[in-house]
Amino acid sequence: MSETWHSRIRRAEQLARETPETSELLRFYAVLLRSQNEIYEYLRTRKDWLPCGELASDLPVLQRALPSFLKVVKASGPDALASEARGLLQARESELREMLIGYWRAPSDLQFFAKAFLQPYARWLAEIGATPVDRGLARGENRCPFCQGNPQVSVLRVKEAGSESGGRDLICSTCLTSWPFRRVVCANCLEENPANIGYFNSPHYEHVRVETCNSCKHYIKSIDLTRYGLAIPFVDEVATAPLDLWAREQGFSKIEMNLVGV
Ligand SMILES: [Zn+2]
Ligand SMILES: [Zn+2]
Repeated sequence: MSETWHSRIRRAEQLARETPETSELLRFYAVLLRSQNEIYEYLRTRKDWLPCGELASDLPVLQRALPSFLKVVKASGPDALASEARGLLQARESELREMLIGYWRAPSDLQFFAKAFLQPYARWLAEIGATPVDRGLARGENRCPFCQGNPQVSVLRVKEAGSESGGRDLICSTCLTSWPFRRVVCANCLEENPANIGYFNSPHYEHVRVETCNSCKHYIKSIDLTRYGLAIPFVDEVATAPLDLWAREQGFSKIEMNLVGV
């Protein structure tokens, strides 16, 4: 199944009901996804306007969607985020602008608001093919070919004839584009020695595994759609937070934290 905002929302709501251990995280994530979908629809349905891919030029239109996003987080987010949202609702427009452009040029998964708010914008850029022109980030096979974002999650799909990736894709943490990636390679440091790459899963989540690298001590989670085709990678990644806890206890750092901070 291909991912859309609607399929992500549905999956998050379903998993919030079915997985008690992460239902609180997923309920918040579902609210967040709804708000991201509103930003996406606001951009997509603008008459006579398309983003140009230079954030500074696109911001006057995009930034109008920010207050309602902040209000959603203020109302439904965990305490720390809710109070940060309150602060941002009182911030000057120029400060918010700096925050968003700062993240765009030097992204960090610790910047929840900029990351969450810019995902629908970046996704819409990818869908219309308006290449970001002002990010200036390093390129690499482990970086999104469209926007150079970090991978958020790895996906295993049924291998297509002639495909070189062995059926493995990475999905971008910024624009949610997926791209083929070699199968037994670290998505952070590109380590290729199979002896340094580890795979761990729990019988509790049969279609999700943790892929670790002993060279750089990083990990990414991988969603195996050949085992469970109804999974929605971005959401199943969030729903399996206990695996992150385990990976951290083993001394691994995540390549890119997700929007619920795990
Ligand atoms: Zn991207
Ligand atoms: Zn590595």
